[in-house]
Amino acid sequence: MKIGIVGLGLIGGCLGLDLRQLGHTVLGVARRPETCSEALRRGIVDRATSELALLELAEVVFICTPIAAIVPTVKALAAVLPASAVITDVGSVKTAIAVPAAQLWPNFVGGHPMSGKSEAGLAAAEAGIFSCRPYVLTPLAETPPAAVALVADLAEQLRSELCCCSPLAHDRAVAWISHLPVMVSAGLIQACLNEPDPTIAHLAQRLASSGFRDTSRVGGGNPELGMMMARYNREPLLRSLYHYQAAFGQLIQQIENEDWQALATQLAAAAAARQDFVD
Ligand code: NAP
Repeated sequence: MKIGIVGLGLIGGCLGLDLRQLGHTVLGVARRPETCSEALRRGIVDRATSELALLELAEVVFICTPIAAIVPTVKALAAVLPASAVITDVGSVKTAIAVPAAQLWPNFVGGHPMSGKSEAGLAAAEAGIFSCRPYVLTPLAETPPAAVALVADLAEQLRSELCCCSPLAHDRAVAWISHLPVMVSAGLIQACLNEPDPTIAHLAQRLASSGFRDTSRVGGGNPELGMMMARYNREPLLRSLYHYQAAFGQLIQQIENEDWQALATQLAAAAAARQDFVD
């Protein structure tokens, strides 16, 4: 199959590596000529240029740019692709993309491979990151079933675990498990910075160890990612943040009231429920 990839960064690069290994012809489009050369050198693509016209014979195109560029890329591709071509994306939010993209291109299937790394860019791309990880597709009621089946088949070829849901269900779910943790973790670091006594603040920094490393990791990462979550998944993120605020308020109240029984019950429930989210 002739497959186009627009945006040869981490996810675009990983997809190119796997799809070529599966025997597909991969046509890559990157903004910078040096990215094209690097993708060719590493065998991530069969051909690469900065021109979308390269994709005029593509049967399916994966858009792997930052979120803000996805819908404009669909619009630009609409002037280049045959009507039969399927466009999909890998953006980490779906409602803000799937609805306007489908208006521009009926054969659009929103997607989100739940795989990644903390590093960005083509240099970090590696084979096999989609294997045994969920790959979410968010078709709309009017999305042609053949287009969904084509992207689903490719996700299964990548050995991903296919998951289909509405764009809103996706956005609410990732708000809980991905976007809320970033805000909670960033808030934790921010709160520590509010310690008024410099001696205590310095001592806390010296004593910080594995617990703080784990809980501050996602909030102390790339600030652009947090901004992207807040801007493009605002309503679902606020919905989760308000629930978090209520749960946190309850913990504060139990400690203020020295209600150790209630606190113990809540902590035990949290410990038991954690395994439902992570192995
Ligand atoms: P990345 O490594 O920074 O790669 C983004 C690529 O898009 C870069 O190659 C960049 O080109 C290119 N690009 C930037 N602006 C563009 C534009 N206006 N037009 C065309 N190309 C443009 O980012 P990534 O982590 O792969 O993320 C890409 C997408 O995957 C995002 O939508 C993100 O939500 C989604 N996603 C990410 C992860 C993750 O863990 N990282 C996981 C799942 C999904 P240059 O090299 O020229 O700057």
